[in-house]
Amino acid sequence: MAKVLIIGAGVAGASAALALEQAGWDVVVVDKARRPGGRCATRRLSADPASPWFDYGAQYFTARTAPFRDRVAHDLEAGILARWTPQVCVAERGEHGWQLNSSPDDRERLISPNGLNHWVRYLFEQADIDVRCGQGVRGLYRTAKGWRADLGEHGRLHADAVVLTAPAVQAAALLGERTQAFPVLGEARHRLSPCHSLVVAAPAVPDCQALFVHQGPLSWCADNSHKAGQTHSDARLWTLHAGPQFSAEHLEDTPESIATTLTREFANITALSTRQMRLVRTHRWRYARPGPVAEALDPPCQAVPDEGIVLAGDWLAGGRVEGAWRSGAAAAAQLTD
Ligand SMILES: Cc1cc2nc3c(=O)[nH]c(=O)nc-3n(C[C@H](O)[C@H](O)[C@H](O)COP(=O)(O)OP(=O)(O)OC[C@H]3O[C@@H](n4cnc5c(N)ncnc54)[C@H](O)[C@@H]3O)c2cc1C
Repeated sequence: MAKVLIIGAGVAGASAALALEQAGWDVVVVDKARRPGGRCATRRLSADPASPWFDYGAQYFTARTAPFRDRVAHDLEAGILARWTPQVCVAERGEHGWQLNSSPDDRERLISPNGLNHWVRYLFEQADIDVRCGQGVRGLYRTAKGWRADLGEHGRLHADAVVLTAPAVQAAALLGERTQAFPVLGEARHRLSPCHSLVVAAPAVPDCQALFVHQGPLSWCADNSHKAGQTHSDARLWTLHAGPQFSAEHLEDTPESIATTLTREFANITALSTRQMRLVRTHRWRYARPGPVAEALDPPCQAVPDEGIVLAGDWLAGGRVEGAWRSGAAAAAQLTD
């Protein structure tokens, strides 16, 4: 049985793993993080498994293409996914300060009742995929028989083929001189933009559980307690995302200074007071969402078929969870074809 090494246990890795397992490959997935999920990142307030959770990476996703819709239909049926129907507002700054206007955008928003990370973990678990977390690939080398991945203290892994789903900059670092085989890596650092993410405990905002902001440092605010189905608590968990321009200009600022700016802005927009807010978590996503040169490829992956290596990930598919899924599936097709 041919063996494939999938680097990255995010959505693209899961999609590729499921398709290759189904096609009869011996699949091993490694991820440098402590758990699968990648940018579908969820945490709980405390170690208590009953404590409230929040997503601090992807907030929800949409499903427009047929094969992905099939997957979603299955997972909705299994209760691992659910539809989220918040009251969505757009914040607009006018002469008299901020105004929250109801958004006409009523697309189907998909979440997982225990956080999006839970869904990605489920994808790997229900197919019994061999996923090894806490194992970062330090170097990737072509051998006479296929590929060798160096995993530092975890040794080496040999495989006939590789699907590399790390964000572009990290993929380029692993490939070294072989980067040249992948023209798409030419402007790797412009493929994904950064995002500062903040989680604060704060009261509910009347008639608004999700907020698009098109001016100033913030771009998105979401009441994650509403996603979790909690309706009565006054201390709700809000995830705040900074926009790409602010995040890039303040990439190296301290978490404290980012938190001060974003909570003040959130308070201004919602007419809450910063005294009503408590900081729960800050996170800097260095490679978050499509950057200036993130056009989607067709197919949404890049392969060197003779060498059995394929690059995959949302950054090759126009971004988003659905893009990552499509890219992983396309990468698997390159190997099975
Ligand atoms: C703040 C934020 C908000 C977002 N909001 C949305 C949203 O609302 N809707 C939506 O659809 N999408 C959203 N996204 C985008 C979405 O999260 C991504 O498109 C999707 O999760 C990408 O999946 P992926 O598998 O391509 O990459 P990733 O999830 O980044 O997975 C790549 C994996 O590779 C691993 N890795 C990297 N290097 C190595 C190495 N050397 N060795 C081993 N493992 C390695 C990483 O640890 C990671 O787990 C958001 C993203 C962010 C950051």
